[in-house]
Amino acid sequence: MRLIENFIGGEYTAGLSGKTFEKRSPLDNSVIARVAEAGKTEVDAAVRAARSALNGEWGGLTTDQRVELLYGVANEITRRFEDFVAAEMADTGQPSHVMRHVFIPRGAANFKVFADVVKNVPSESFQMATPDGRGAMNYSVRNPKGVIGVVCPWNAPFMLMTWKVGPALACGNTVVVKPSEESPHTATLLGEVMNAVGIPKGVYNVVHGFGPDSAGEFLTQHPLVDAITFTGETRTGAAIMKAASEGMRDVSFELGGKNAGIVFADADFDAAVEGISRSAFLNSGQVCLGTERVYVERLIFDKFVAALKVKAEAVKFGRPTDPNANYGPLISQEHRQKVLSYYRKAVEEGATVVTGGGVPDMPADLAEGAWVQPTIWTGLPETAAVVQEEIFGPCCHICPFDSEDEVVNLANDTDYGLSTTIWTNDLSRAHRVAARVDVGITWVNSWFLRDLRTPFGGSKQSGIGREGGVHSLEFYTETRNICIKF
Ligand code: NAD
Repeated sequence: MRLIENFIGGEYTAGLSGKTFEKRSPLDNSVIARVAEAGKTEVDAAVRAARSALNGEWGGLTTDQRVELLYGVANEITRRFEDFVAAEMADTGQPSHVMRHVFIPRGAANFKVFADVVKNVPSESFQMATPDGRGAMNYSVRNPKGVIGVVCPWNAPFMLMTWKVGPALACGNTVVVKPSEESPHTATLLGEVMNAVGIPKGVYNVVHGFGPDSAGEFLTQHPLVDAITFTGETRTGAAIMKAASEGMRDVSFELGGKNAGIVFADADFDAAVEGISRSAFLNSGQVCLGTERVYVERLIFDKFVAALKVKAEAVKFGRPTDPNANYGPLISQEHRQKVLSYYRKAVEEGATVVTGGGVPDMPADLAEGAWVQPTIWTGLPETAAVVQEEIFGPCCHICPFDSEDEVVNLANDTDYGLSTTIWTNDLSRAHRVAARVDVGITWVNSWFLRDLRTPFGGSKQSGIGREGGVHSLEFYTETRNICIKF
């Protein structure tokens, strides 16, 4: 049985505790690896390795030298593309086309794009008058923040982890990454890439484990961690924020969502059905930007529900390696229990189940996997738990609306504010509605179309701060002003 180890100071290590936990395949619940769990000692060693790397060779590199190393990381990920695809598929069970076309290429891009941002970002300067008439000049410089704690989820593990590690390293920081206990593979593999391209030891570290009373908590509570970037559930973000308040450490949070899709009757109907179908069901609904609430203008409501039902029923469950399959399981049995509890709750709350609502019939070798059917409901009040709470599964509730004002109010009636997707051919309406929906990211006639230079993050309980392009620099650097009197 393979042992997945921590990566500390450029070395793979099981640690002193000898504690391990199982990683099970979502496809059939078989144990595919054991993972070394980092205790306080291992987390402390990783943080100290990161701190000493800051003061060593890494801290002395010029921006150009760092940028070249990060291009090297991106190229090495591309060279080892198949290894990353295989590692991510083993952890998540998702179809290979999603890995190949989205998640793994984005991992490489995260290093290239932020290397370019850092290389090209200008610094600001302000000339000012002084009472003696001689004047002064202010200019700002950016310094790395220090050791960054990076705590990650399991739903797109490599893409979301490198989205933080790329800019953190580009800015000259060092990192200690705590991947999700459900997806330990790719973060560990990235250690080999770092060593292969000559990233100095201690710049990139990985500690494995869980949240409370484990590696996640030990890392976020460690006093030598200067800032914490976290993607995951809003509830976990609250716990990490408490830990970060000790020592006034900065946080960047990308949290949960309960995103609305809005379809007007004048939209390109087929494109809207395709777009909402992707946003509700891609990655088995385990996408933070996914749509779990759909609002459709009443004129086309019945036709839209019928068309989305066809899409939901067309998925083909199976292994990522099965050329006839295009649909994977949820991440774990535990998560499946959560999603199925919402499927039951929807019925108790009085939903009409348009399709799905249960588990698919699977062949014997996959019968123990975390499979659930894509599910569509109608007929629930907005107060229903299924309409208010993030489920993080392949499901959505569809509700009719009659006016622009009404749908904006419905879309905003949530504690979350991550993203929305609006479908209309009326340009003025697109601008009006986009301006009024209280979210960090709005797509019009598209979904998940990402330019990595743009600000990414959520409002309300969906996050704190923005990452992406120069916005990432706000978090990963400390800006200092220098004022020179003439
Ligand atoms: P989670 O919050 O359960 O876990 C995320 C990470 O935090 C894991 O590594 C976990 O071990 C760790 N953790 C848990 N408790 C901790 C604690 N007390 N202290 C320190 N670390 C702790 O989230 P998840 O189930 O892995 O991911 C799904 C969630 O992530 C969903 O809510 C989804 O919306 C959200 N998400 C958001 C974005 C975004 O960009 N906004 C992107 C992807 C996922």
